Amino acid sequence: MVARIVADVYAECLADRSGEPADYIPELAAVQADSFGLCVATADGRVYGAGDVQAPFTIQSISKPFTYALALADRGPAAVAERIDVEPSGEAFNEISLDPVTARPRNPMINAGAISAAALIGGRDAAEKFERVRRCYSRFAGRELRVNEAVYASEARTGYRNRAIGYMLRSFGVIDSDPDEAVDRYFRQCSIDVTCHDLAVMAATLANNGVNPLTRERALSSTLTEQVLSVMTTCGMYDAAGEWVSTVGMPAKSGVGGGILAVLPGQIGIAVYSPRLDRHGNSVRGVAACRELSRRLELHFLHVT
Ligand code: GLU
Repeated sequence: MVARIVADVYAECLADRSGEPADYIPELAAVQADSFGLCVATADGRVYGAGDVQAPFTIQSISKPFTYALALADRGPAAVAERIDVEPSGEAFNEISLDPVTARPRNPMINAGAISAAALIGGRDAAEKFERVRRCYSRFAGRELRVNEAVYASEARTGYRNRAIGYMLRSFGVIDSDPDEAVDRYFRQCSIDVTCHDLAVMAATLANNGVNPLTRERALSSTLTEQVLSVMTTCGMYDAAGEWVSTVGMPAKSGVGGGILAVLPGQIGIAVYSPRLDRHGNSVRGVAACRELSRRLELHFLHVT
């Protein structure tokens, strides 16, 4: 039944060619705008896909919950909470701002919070810290993920705003290490290539309390998985987080590469890849497909049968 619903939802959303791919770097503007993949992975390891489920694209902001997860595991929730709040911001993801009262980034899903999380990753040097990030994501995906070097080079060449955020964080003491190193790690993590299949497995790992249902490897403790999913619920969908909760009702994260990852805890992980974005920066077909899947499979977390 799930296979048929995935195929139907894919076919229904395919015709929508509205929106435009991100164009702030040439590599993203040059993607195949009409690519479309939809993949569902269950918490017990069954995978159902339709369309371009093996096409690589950069993870971009969908990296944020996973680096936050690793920062929580490395430093403990209390130390991370001292640096990064968990309140929805209602601001643009790349806003250069801190909460005026706490002088902390409002949450780990906006760039200020994500760069702060990247600064908290443990390791002897920058190379080891990034390698730990890459391995962490790979455990969630169940295969070795790699950086797209062309996208990384472009992100690093053009990322003035993110550098400004890094310097702001350093000046307020949210980051107490080299801000350039933290921002560079953030550029690299955003440039990791994934497929729709990978994202579905990463989502299913979150749905399965932090254990990858295909490899059976634990990627994150169940307590920290709950924390990450909580923040995704309130802050995951840029400034459309409220609308998303009311129409889809699942913790989720999207990225400007055109990916969306959504999780129904205990049940299912969903991933969509379609690069045309709406005015909030979310994939147009991605939002539509998640709404339809949520409706047909009754996935909304407040749904009562
Ligand atoms: N590399 C992008 C940035 O931080 C990621 C943006 C996103 O996916 O929202 O500007």
